[in-house]
Amino acid sequence: MKMDLVFVIDVTRSMQPYWDAVVKRVNSLVSQIEAMHRYAQDNVRVGFVGYRDFKDKPQFEVLPLQAAQGGSIAAASLEWLGRVRCEGGDDFAEDVHGALEKAGSAEMGWGNGTSTRTVVLITDAPGHGERLRRGLESIRIRDDHPNHDSDGSELKRLLRHLREKVQVQKLLFLHAGAKYKGHTLTRPMADQFVEDCGDPAFVKQADWEGEAMMVESVVTTVIESFSRSMVSGVKAGGTKAERPYTIDPAKPDWDKLKAVKVKSLTCHDVNTATFSLLGLIEMIKKGNHLRTRGKELHDEACIKIAPNPFAMGSTRLAYYAQYYPFGEGGGEEGRDVVVKEFISRAKGANSAMETQTVATILAHQFNAAAKDAGLNLPEVRYAECDMLCVPQVDNPKLLRFLMVEPLLVGVMRKWNNNAGIVYAPDPQLHLQAFSHWTYEVTDKKLMVVDVQGFKMPAEGSAAPRILLVDPAIHCVGTDYFTSTNCGGEGGAGFDLFLESHRNPKTHYCGKACKAVRDKFKAFRKKQHEEAEQAERTRRAFSCLRVVPDRASPGGTASTSPLVDKKLGQLKPALKAHEECSKLLAGRALPVPGALFQAIEDCLKHRLMAPERVAELHRRRVEGNIGRHDWFDSMGNLTRVN
Ligand SMILES: [Zn+2]
Repeated sequence: MKMDLVFVIDVTRSMQPYWDAVVKRVNSLVSQIEAMHRYAQDNVRVGFVGYRDFKDKPQFEVLPLQAAQGGSIAAASLEWLGRVRCEGGDDFAEDVHGALEKAGSAEMGWGNGTSTRTVVLITDAPGHGERLRRGLESIRIRDDHPNHDSDGSELKRLLRHLREKVQVQKLLFLHAGAKYKGHTLTRPMADQFVEDCGDPAFVKQADWEGEAMMVESVVTTVIESFSRSMVSGVKAGGTKAERPYTIDPAKPDWDKLKAVKVKSLTCHDVNTATFSLLGLIEMIKKGNHLRTRGKELHDEACIKIAPNPFAMGSTRLAYYAQYYPFGEGGGEEGRDVVVKEFISRAKGANSAMETQTVATILAHQFNAAAKDAGLNLPEVRYAECDMLCVPQVDNPKLLRFLMVEPLLVGVMRKWNNNAGIVYAPDPQLHLQAFSHWTYEVTDKKLMVVDVQGFKMPAEGSAAPRILLVDPAIHCVGTDYFTSTNCGGEGGAGFDLFLESHRNPKTHYCGKACKAVRDKFKAFRKKQHEEAEQAERTRRAFSCLRVVPDRASPGGTASTSPLVDKKLGQLKPALKAHEECSKLLAGRALPVPGALFQAIEDCLKHRLMAPERVAELHRRRVEGNIGRHDWFDSMGNLTRVN
């Protein structure tokens, strides 16, 4: 598959340093893009459109798309690029419309056939027309054509042509030049692009922060273009069923937002820390799905959701939200969470939740496998997520199904994607090993990809961890794991990953891979036995009542291993309860959930000697039942009575 990259750069006076930086770095860009993917080798094409203004001669400097060979573009082209002088420009505004026209023209040599197409626009000046300077009315910007494209029809046509006809997947807008009130003068123009192109995800913008940053954001954008060209079943870029939205990265003013009542909170009825790999394989083979269960919910539980999403992935929109588990007047601050919703109305949140739960299960098992293999790797974790159902604000009869997870802050990174691209500048080999391992250990039924998230540095006694979000899973079963699943019949998902992963040039498949894979069968068997044991304990445990208790909030969010540890501490009490249950059930008497009552009932019905009763009460106290409380992933307090 071809990877086409066209730079559209303003080449008027002030722009020489930017032009020079791109020309200087173009070969390093090519080799980084090639390193991402086996199919990218000798398949990267680069083109340039330098643009000035109406009266300038020449108005354009064009280098049509040209294939790079062995990691670099032709020496003659490089020389030609080096000779381009940034000059002219006349008034402050430049002919951006003309530049887009050129970029989308046949002259560029786009040709037919499928390719990943990315356009990078770099400029420090708005285009002609007041429409591209909204919000900057108070400063004087000289524009000799203030009425140019006054209704925006021209810009709309040009952007849609690029997106729909030329099939460019992403346009990266790099803002160069001075800032006014924290923003460059080109910000309003980029915002207008977002509005006019018909697909907000098409345009991505960033401020120029030096050469290295330019390279990184171009490479990242190419990766995103590739991902967009890979979403199976959903045509990339705007279908009618999509919900309208605008991206707003700012957090809303929570005081001004109305809370909506949470109708239900659902999670999977599994212990992700102990769910067995064989169970997972069996489930896929049979075409079954994970069982869900409703979580206990306070009557007043409500949530405030930002009106606009702050980010979007290939299939979902992410919104800031504040969750009030005990209601707004519940005496507790709202909890920062993120809710995610499908762009396409037809897609199910259920399937997305299953994707995340299965990835969570595999991450737990991978950590154990790595430890087992004697590797000292940062722990790999997925943010636990639940599914939330709330009424729509504008039409309460309709429901919204949202995925909810804790708000994570920091720089989000992507280490590989569902098209086999590995992010070359920071490949994190153990995460590549994780993807590879998930494939082997599930007997090639599935593979977790789109590995992305946050690096959490060591903190206090906690070791460094990798916290992941939004996985994609390739799976042989096509009705699993949303539209990013490219593992079904004819789907190239698995091969795309393996091809680039095993590329001898990059050595992504290395020691970590080998160590965890060598003994996965023995590991899997051992894990399965442990999982069965854990399931038995869980069943025994579930006969004790678990009720939400609002009396003693506080404490910290707990993790599944912690719950397991507490389960261990509870064991003597659990055994005591089992003993009472047998005696009571043997006489067809009701078995109380609470241990204290069960023991007392045994005494009352003379089923147990008083010495034994005293002994069981002692165990109950030892087991500390009634004092152990912890929080589940939503921070709901649960307590064992
Ligand atoms: Zn590998």
